[in-house]
Amino acid sequence: MRIDSATRDQLQEWEKELSTHYQRICQHELSLDITRGKPAADQLHQSDGLDGILNGDYRAADGTDTRNYGGRNGGGLEGLLCARELGADILQVPTEEVLAGGNSSLTLMYHAVLTGYLFGFAGNKPWRELQSPKFLCPVPGYDRHFSICEQLGIGMVNVPMTETGPDMDAIEEEIKKDQGIIGIWCVPKFSNPTGVTYSQETVVRLAQLAQIANPGFRIFWDNAYAIHDLEQQINLPGIRAASLENDTADSVLQFASTSKVTHAGAGVAFVSASTANLASLKKQMHAMTIGPDKVNQLRHSRFFAEFTLLKKHMQKHAQILKPKFACVLSQLESAFGDSDLGEWEKPKGGYFVSFNTRPGCATAVVQLAADAGVKLTPAGATFPYGKDPEDRNIRIAPSFPPLEELDTAMSVFILCVKLASVRKKLE
Ligand code: PLP
Repeated sequence: MRIDSATRDQLQEWEKELSTHYQRICQHELSLDITRGKPAADQLHQSDGLDGILNGDYRAADGTDTRNYGGRNGGGLEGLLCARELGADILQVPTEEVLAGGNSSLTLMYHAVLTGYLFGFAGNKPWRELQSPKFLCPVPGYDRHFSICEQLGIGMVNVPMTETGPDMDAIEEEIKKDQGIIGIWCVPKFSNPTGVTYSQETVVRLAQLAQIANPGFRIFWDNAYAIHDLEQQINLPGIRAASLENDTADSVLQFASTSKVTHAGAGVAFVSASTANLASLKKQMHAMTIGPDKVNQLRHSRFFAEFTLLKKHMQKHAQILKPKFACVLSQLESAFGDSDLGEWEKPKGGYFVSFNTRPGCATAVVQLAADAGVKLTPAGATFPYGKDPEDRNIRIAPSFPPLEELDTAMSVFILCVKLASVRKKLE
């Protein structure tokens, strides 16, 4: 189906056929959901071994009794040494630069933004003292990053994503003309939602931004999908090495968690940064908490006693996820491979497939799908303030539903894309 070369008669004919098909589907009273990127039950089962793993032995290798406040080497705010080692393996950074926190990397990101906003990092001016502090937001992106900025009244500037990461020319231009830019959100590997992994050139240019930006500028490097490869492992170029080479190490804050490794929302989260940044972060957190849940940290450290165990564990996730991604991609390819109805990336890992409809169709697609019993992420959710200027992007999350349900949901999605596109063209 190619809409741009169709005659009006053809379009009207298609609209009639598609509407009839759609009405029939609506009678099936489906109730399917491909909204959030949650692990499926069989993925969660892979971590059942966490339960009871301590077996009465609550002491970490360094002697810390994880049931109590504090750690052997101080207050324990930076987490157990063995948990920090796990975070260091995931983020490929030195253990001394890692703080192992509670259950959520998003919480750590929120605290990091608060630290920059209220107090400033590493002796820099707090962002709240600037006239108009703003974050650069590669779009489409992760809605919850944008919510943090929105809640704190930090402005957001859209930057387009490309196949190699965010558009670096656009970023450099924005920073040069506006010293109010004090941060950027990055999901550098299997980006949420496009699935893109940043190239070497992108990583190096990002690491160089601090040379032209406000001294308080920070890169929020949310490596949520650092080890979530579906096929062979893709190496993300290291931002730490690039920033050290460019003398900009203080501009980088890296995050990760085991939310999509063990238990979503009940794992361990990590932040990695320079000594000066970690000191600022710990100062803020010190007033808020005595320390993280070390019992859970120890459970995770025992479960992944070696990095190879973690890698094997992630391969099991990949085996479960692969057929689901294949289902989504093959349905899209056979429906739209030779059409002008949409574009999408073919991710090699992560949790999402990002689909762009023709301009002005995404809201209608989501509504049509909802009325047919298939819940999709709201159109616009992948943009700051929920506003997709072209109304095109829809994030598909294949992980949670069973394969048969996903297959049905995708058939409905495809029908809705066709119907919304034809109707839009007829307007
Ligand atoms: N960052 C990204 C890019 C995500 O996609 C998600 C979850 O979907 C998170 C962070 C949340 O991670 P956590 O559960 O560690 O807060």
